[in-house]
Amino acid sequence: MSLHPVTVSESKDTTFIEHLAVLGVGLIGGSLAASLKKRDCVKHVSGYGRSQANLTLASRLGLIDKVSNSVEEAVRGADVVLIASPIGAIGELLDEIRQHAPKKAIVTDVGSAKAGVIAIAESALGDRFPLFVPGHPVAGSERSGASAADPELFVDHWAVLTPLNETDPDALRIVRRMWEAAGAKVKMMTPEAHDRLLAMISHLPHATAYGLTMQLARQDGRDDLFDLAAGGFLDITRIASSDPVMWRDIFIDNRDEVLSLIAEHKNVLSELEALIETRDLAGLEGWCAEAKRIRDRLAKHVSDQEL
Ligand code: NAD
Repeated sequence: MSLHPVTVSESKDTTFIEHLAVLGVGLIGGSLAASLKKRDCVKHVSGYGRSQANLTLASRLGLIDKVSNSVEEAVRGADVVLIASPIGAIGELLDEIRQHAPKKAIVTDVGSAKAGVIAIAESALGDRFPLFVPGHPVAGSERSGASAADPELFVDHWAVLTPLNETDPDALRIVRRMWEAAGAKVKMMTPEAHDRLLAMISHLPHATAYGLTMQLARQDGRDDLFDLAAGGFLDITRIASSDPVMWRDIFIDNRDEVLSLIAEHKNVLSELEALIETRDLAGLEGWCAEAKRIRDRLAKHVSDQEL
């Protein structure tokens, strides 16, 4: 059986998706829908989610054209199905997609961890698995819901795709085009490499932001701490305001990588602890100078990329 998607038109320069179904119309799903609509890349967007109020808002904001009351309704006739729910909900959504989406529909996701999602997709989608393109835009914020959607969210940010050997090349091309149309730069890598890299640059930082915030909460004199914590503390813990369900799912889905980096982070803190304990002024200054050098280089690299 040929799985090549044929309903996605590439004849026009702009509109190349007739019907996009977005399952989970929050920050990421709503932003991608808004971005593709704004750029005339899609003709019709149906949206399904768990919260009726959020879907109504998404419709009022023009992120979606139609509020659907079930997955079945949302994916009926869809060319591309975008799963943008928390990772823990992806399995049940894929089961419904397999039952109700057109056979040739391309399915893609935006989950922040990839290997676990791919394993679920392989077992849920069966012979439709080649039309599943795993993805993850490395853009976002601590905000959530349709009210946070922004059509420019992905501009100049990376979107990582982690296709497998069996991934259909046409499906991959369409999903790549979708992200590029939204202004993102696309990077391909294996799911394992993605999960390892993201654990370091995103999952561990979220763990430490949550940890610092929990530590603050356990101190006496909270009112004074709250008064004084307006600067660096607020900066470094910004991402602890992220959605708890989303982060519960990411930590569990990328459990091995996150646990290994938490262990490594404890060792790094132990190094610092030893330098402080022994009043090693030269060592301490060198340690902080090395971190500053790397942080400055990182900041320059990021700003050069944005030029
Ligand atoms: P969000 O909370 O803004 O949106 C998620 C949406 O999914 C909500 O509207 C919610 O109602 C809906 N939802 C929840 N359970 C559902 C279910 N069972 N069926 C259908 N819809 C359901 O979250 P978000 O930030 O847009 O994150 C969505 C996905 O994107 C997550 O998988 C996350 O890992 C990934 N992601 C997030 C970011 C970020 O910075 N926030 C960045 C990249 C990728």
